[in-house]
This record gives sequence, C-alpha cells and structure tokens, in this order.
Amino acid sequence: MDRTIRSLRSTVRTAGFGGFIPSPSAYRRGMIRAERVLEDVVRIRVEHPGTYIGHVNLYLIELDDGRLLVDSGFRQTAGELVEELRRLIGGSRLETVLLTHIHNDHTGGASEVATAFGPKVRMHQRDIDVIRFMRETVEGGGRQLKALGLDDSLREEVLGFFRFNLQHLSMGYEPLIGGEEFRSRAGRWRVVPTPGHTPGHVTLFDERRRVLISGDHLLPNETSNVSYYPMEGYDALRSYLGSLVLTEELGPELVLPSHGEPFGNVRERIDYLFLHHEKRLREALASTGDGNSLMGVARGISWSRGRFDGLGPIDRWLALLETLAHLQFLINGGFVETRWDAGTVVYAATGRDASEIKEVLEEIRRRG
Ligand SMILES: [Zn+2]
Ligand SMILES: [Zn+2]
Repeated sequence: MDRTIRSLRSTVRTAGFGGFIPSPSAYRRGMIRAERVLEDVVRIRVEHPGTYIGHVNLYLIELDDGRLLVDSGFRQTAGELVEELRRLIGGSRLETVLLTHIHNDHTGGASEVATAFGPKVRMHQRDIDVIRFMRETVEGGGRQLKALGLDDSLREEVLGFFRFNLQHLSMGYEPLIGGEEFRSRAGRWRVVPTPGHTPGHVTLFDERRRVLISGDHLLPNETSNVSYYPMEGYDALRSYLGSLVLTEELGPELVLPSHGEPFGNVRERIDYLFLHHEKRLREALASTGDGNSLMGVARGISWSRGRFDGLGPIDRWLALLETLAHLQFLINGGFVETRWDAGTVVYAATGRDASEIKEVLEEIRRRG
C-alpha cells in the first residue's frame, strides 16, 4: 500500500476529504426518511452529518411498470438505502436507477442497489466518458492534472480521490442520451440533459405538471459547481448557462433538488446565478492581468467556503475546475489568451473590456 492510499484512507476515516465523504463513524442508522411529495413520487432524504452538503435527496417514482430510483446517495449509506427500498417498493420491481450525474453523493449506492434489485443503472454517456478520463488520469500517474496546472501535492490528493471514486464507478452503466421517457400513472417524466455541473448531467421533467427533478443543476441554497472537463468542444460554463436558459424555457413551477427543500421561483434563482457567474468572470479576468497561473487566478476569486489556500484538497480541486471553466469561457469570448512559460500555461488579459462580459451574458440569457 503506497503512502497516498494510506493517507487517503486515514483522511476518509477522519475528515472525509474535508467534508466530501461521510466518515463511517458519523453515520448512524435511522438517518433515512421517506416522504411522499407527489402522487407518484416519494422523496428519500438521506442525512450525512459531518459533510458540507448535510443531506442528499433521492426520488422514487412509481412507474406504470415498476419503480424508477433517481440517484443512489453515498456508498456509505447503501446498506440502509437497500433496506428502505425493500420497504417502499414492496411487491413491485425496481426497473431503473437513473443517475443524474457522476458525483459520489449520487452514484455511490448504485452498485449495492443493483445487486439487491437487478435494475438497469443509467447515466448520460458524457458522464460515462468522465469515468474514462478518471481512469486514464490514474493510469497516467496524473500527467493530465499536471498539464492542467495542479501542483504536486494537490495532484496526489486528486489522484487519491479518483482512485477512491473509481472503486464504485467500475460497474456497467447503460447510457442515456436525453429524451427518454418514463410513464407513471400521474405523469410522464422526460430526461432533459443539462450539462454544466458535469458534462453529462441530466434532469427529469414532467411537462404537464411542470415539475423538474433537478439533480445538482439547480439548487435552492447553493451555487452549483461548474466543472471544466478536457472534452473536445465542451465549454462548461457556456453549457451551464445554456442549460439554465433551457430550464427557464421549460418553465417548472416546482423543483425537486438533490440538496435542500423543494422550491419554485425558478426565474429569480436563474437571475441570481447569472449575476454570480458574471461576478466570478470579472474576478477571474481581473486576476489574469499581465499573466497568471491557474492557481494564481483561483487565488483571486472569492470562494463561498473561504480563501483558496485555506480550502481542503477536494474543494481546491473543484475550485480549480470552476476557475478553468471561467477561463475557458473568457478565452472563447476573446477576453483572455494563453501562453506557455517554462512548461506552464499562463493566462493573460487581452484588453477586451470587462464591462462587455455583461453583454455576452445577456446575449446568452436572451438566446440560450
Ligand atoms: Zn454534483
Ligand atoms: Zn450532489
């Protein structure tokens, strides 16, 4: 066992990657609560004390021909989830587990649920591709992360996190492409891709009742992390903003999120998110200046969990992915350019005026 894995295990036992993974000792039985939120939907709320997210909401939809489970929670709670599902499903059949996206608070319990009930487990193809990226990064010893601008210690932490996640992501998934429909007696749930939080993030929308099961795409209290991924033609922030506009066009009146309580007022929430990303784009642009490294730019952004250097390793990794997403958007908009300096990418302002960021965003808001 190498040093990384050893330190990884002790991290998971104690701090849980800085609150990213519930430590087993923090988890007690009786932390799952099921409540009916719609005629055909039961919300399964799984508490995760000690993590910054606090809890995860899963949704069990009663289909015409079986049951559909949206997301599967952390791996640490898979055993109790299986018990709870046995009670909720009764004599019916779990047809499908639909994973809104690849993150471990959504995918962690899927393999145990699959073993217990034998459903199809489905995830969007682009998030299945992210698993491949993680595997190739681990096999390549983190070369890809060095190229992105991570220093050695953070690279080791991220590789450890990837290895940890690959343990539960090695099962087979049936790909989703969007547009798939699941019929229940009360409605018709359609898969709507909403890339941005991850490249393959999906939501479920019931048009007639105007209800959106939003995953992490739209949350009531938190600004979803927007993560860069090195995928051909993928601009994470542009995709995310486009997904917000699409969501506004769908016009949900009720949103059932993965974290937090059900909410409405989608338009105001989207207004707020556009302003949030405008501010972040301005900060990123200001900290590029005559030339700055990725980590240097990230230090110039105000993060909701505090200063960049004070964040835990996985928060820093997510902050860097979010910084990259904003930089890529600024590069595509002609605000920032890159050059190489001693084997590292340097980001520099082109001189295009920062006030034009607002115009670019307004154009996206108008046209999607
Ligand atoms: Zn997520
Ligand atoms: Zn989540």
